[in-house]
Amino acid sequence: MARKETTLRSLPHLRRVRSGVAALSDEAIAVAEAIADYAEPSLREFRSADRLAGFLAAHGFRVTRPIREMPTAFRATFGTGRPVIALLAEYDALPDCGRKPGQWGHGCGHNLLGTASALAGIVAAGVLARLGKAGKVVVFGCPAEEALHGKVFMADRGAFVGLDAVLAWHPAAVTQVKAAGGAAMDSLRFQFRGRTAHAAGGPHHGRSALDAALLTDVAVNYLREHVEENARIHCVISSGGTAPNVVPDKAELWYYIRGRDRKQVDELRRRVVLCARGAALATETRWRMLIETCIAERIPNEPMAEMLEALLRRCGPPKLTPADRRAARAVPSGKDYATGIDPPRVAAGRASSDEDNVSWFAPLGCITVACVPKGTIAHHRDYARAVRLPGAHKGMLKAAEVLALGAVELFLNAPLLRRAKAAAQ
Ligand SMILES: [Zn+2]
Repeated sequence: MARKETTLRSLPHLRRVRSGVAALSDEAIAVAEAIADYAEPSLREFRSADRLAGFLAAHGFRVTRPIREMPTAFRATFGTGRPVIALLAEYDALPDCGRKPGQWGHGCGHNLLGTASALAGIVAAGVLARLGKAGKVVVFGCPAEEALHGKVFMADRGAFVGLDAVLAWHPAAVTQVKAAGGAAMDSLRFQFRGRTAHAAGGPHHGRSALDAALLTDVAVNYLREHVEENARIHCVISSGGTAPNVVPDKAELWYYIRGRDRKQVDELRRRVVLCARGAALATETRWRMLIETCIAERIPNEPMAEMLEALLRRCGPPKLTPADRRAARAVPSGKDYATGIDPPRVAAGRASSDEDNVSWFAPLGCITVACVPKGTIAHHRDYARAVRLPGAHKGMLKAAEVLALGAVELFLNAPLLRRAKAAAQ
C-alpha cells in the first residue's frame, strides 16, 4: 500500500466539496435522523428509500424506482456519458436495537451510511456540472444489506453492469481505508419433510423431520474437525416441530457457511449437503435446500485503496468538540472517539457484506469513518444510540466529503481510473 505517491487531481476542488457538504449539512442530518426514526427492516425500507430518493431528486438527480423488481431499491443518476461513478447507499435497520425491547433501530448505522453516500453524490454532481465535464454520478439505493440480499439480488439482475468505479463506506469506530473485504458466504436453508404420528401412541408410524435436522447438524459438527481453520459453519434450527407428543413432519435448519473465497465455500457446501442427504436417508425423510444468498470474496483494488488513503489523509478525520465527546457518554459500552486515521485494513474480515459482490463488476473502493465511540457494541441498541449523536453526524459529513472528492478524482484522473479498471479484471 502507498508504494508510490498518488498524484491527486481533485485537490483544487476540495474547498468546493467542503462548502458543498457544509451547505447541505442540516438537510443531510435531517434525512439521517428521519431514517433513524423510521428504522425499517430489510426489504421493507419504503419510507427510508423515499426520503433518500427524494433528497437526491430535489438536487437534480433522475430517480428510477423500483429497480430490478426490488420495491425499495433505486437508482439515482446525474449527468450523461462516461465515466460512470457509482456510490452505494444502504438504509435498513436491525431488530432489538430500538429504545424499547423489541423495537427496531439502526444498530449498524445505515441511517448515516445511505445519507452520506447520497450527499457525496449530490456534491460530486455539483462539481461535475460546474466543470462541464461528461460523466455520470449514480447513487444506488441498496436495500436489505443486513439480510445480505440487496446487492446480491441487484447484481444478479445486472444492476451494476456498465459502471466504471464504485465508492462505498461504512460508519465505524475507526477511520481507515477498507482495502480488504469480508468472507465469502452461503446462506442456506435445509428443509426436511417426514410423516407425523402420535409420539406415544404410534411412533413407529412417524418419520421425524426433526430427527433428520438434528442428525444433519451432528454430522456437520463432526465435519468441523476436517475443514480448514478459517472456515465458519453456523446454524439455527428455524423450525423443529410444535409439541413433543407430535412427531414433527417439518423441520428446517438455516446455515451460514463462510470461507476465504467462493471456491472454498462451494466445497464446504458440497460436504454439508452430504450431511443432509445422509441424515434424510437414515430417517426416511425428504429434504431440499434453498439458497438464500451467496456472497463472493471481494476483488481488492489497490489503485482505489491508494486514492482513498491519500484523500482521507488530506481531508483528515472528523473534528470533534469537547461537547461532542461528552455527549458520547450516553453510550453505555462506548469509550471515547478515535481521533486519528488508522492504516488501511488489508486483512479480510470474518463477517460478510454484500458489497463485495459489487467488486466483480467494477473497481470498488471503501472506507470506514469513525462515527461511534470505540467499544460501542455493533448490531446493538448502543450503536443505534451512538449513530444519532453529533459526533456521528460529523463522521457522516466527513464520509460524504471524502467520497465526493473520490468521485471528482475519478472523473478528472483518467490514468488512475484506467489503472483501477485494469486491477479489477
Ligand atoms: Zn452495516
